[in-house]
Amino acid sequence: MTISPDELLIDEREILELTQKLVQIPSENQPGNEKAVGEYIAAWLKDKGLPAQLQEVEKDRFNVISSIKRSGPALLLCGHMDTVPVPNPDEWTYDPFAGEIKDGYLFGRGALDMKGSLACMLTAFVALKDVEEELSQDVVFLATVDEEVATKGAKKAMESSDIKRVKHGIIAEPTDLNPVIVQKGHCWLKIKTLGVAAHGALPERGVNAILKMYPVITRIQELDFGKGDHPLVSGTTVNIGLINGGVKINMVPDACESSLDFRYPPGVTSESILEKINVLLKGLKAEDKELDAKIEIIKCSDPVEVQRSAPIVTLLLRAMDKVLGSHSEPIGVPYYTDASALTSIPIVLLGPGEPGYAHQKDERIKISSMLPAAKIYATVPLL
Ligand SMILES: [Zn+2]
Repeated sequence: MTISPDELLIDEREILELTQKLVQIPSENQPGNEKAVGEYIAAWLKDKGLPAQLQEVEKDRFNVISSIKRSGPALLLCGHMDTVPVPNPDEWTYDPFAGEIKDGYLFGRGALDMKGSLACMLTAFVALKDVEEELSQDVVFLATVDEEVATKGAKKAMESSDIKRVKHGIIAEPTDLNPVIVQKGHCWLKIKTLGVAAHGALPERGVNAILKMYPVITRIQELDFGKGDHPLVSGTTVNIGLINGGVKINMVPDACESSLDFRYPPGVTSESILEKINVLLKGLKAEDKELDAKIEIIKCSDPVEVQRSAPIVTLLLRAMDKVLGSHSEPIGVPYYTDASALTSIPIVLLGPGEPGYAHQKDERIKISSMLPAAKIYATVPLL
């Protein structure tokens, strides 16, 4: 690399202005109205002399894809355009769609997760165009839709010819500039119990589906679903996130359903989780002949793991050394991202800002971490 990170044309003011602009265009998911943000990003790229392809994912939902050289193996710079919704805007100190700057932070829905880091990536990507001759690999930029719900954008992106030539990548999730090399898998299940309706004054004539659900979820909570075999993430966890049953206070409920969110490390599989629940249900049914319980899979994705020795990890750590003067050791996270849908591409997560502010009221990004993030993104393909 003959260019130092400080010689790249990356300007903090431009990053902040772009972040503010992106925050000012709401793209809450649900409903998933990323269209205007995507159009803004595409126009911004074209204005800088770069191509921008809108890839339709479903009606009015488009990924944005761009690349610098348009051939050869490539590094992927990826971020998502959707944000979680703002359920109670009145509880915010600042307007969630203004992008106000105060005390070293930029506030707004998506400022941290991840319009701020998208702005860092876009600014880095454009700066690389000016030093195209120095690139050691091509660079593909991808902004996805629907990361926060079902990763439909990332799944669709796999069909793109530009994504097909990607050999490894970085996703700009907020990690406080820590490289993340392992992400837990997830498995969302729904369990239904069925009973028999009866008048609330004569409960003995019915079978209460809510009471039938009780031993199922309490026993699941007590089960050990496996510790896995990765030192950077903890064992399997379960959250009983939803329960719904009954019609009226004076009726015996004939149906109850509960939704469960399992997060599991490498070494555990969604099949092994399902198997344990099936064994449990079989045992409970043997104890209680009235128990009628069924499992339904909502969605699952496997853990994502990149080897510590993989080229993308080495490159990223070297880029951090150049920009920050040192690097932190890779870590693991319990959540899933677009990386779980960009299957077979080794991906590391690294982004500016403290992850604890994501999905919260008064979401904010630490401004001092943004310019370093942009410089790290731009340095990787120059090494
Ligand atoms: Zn995110």
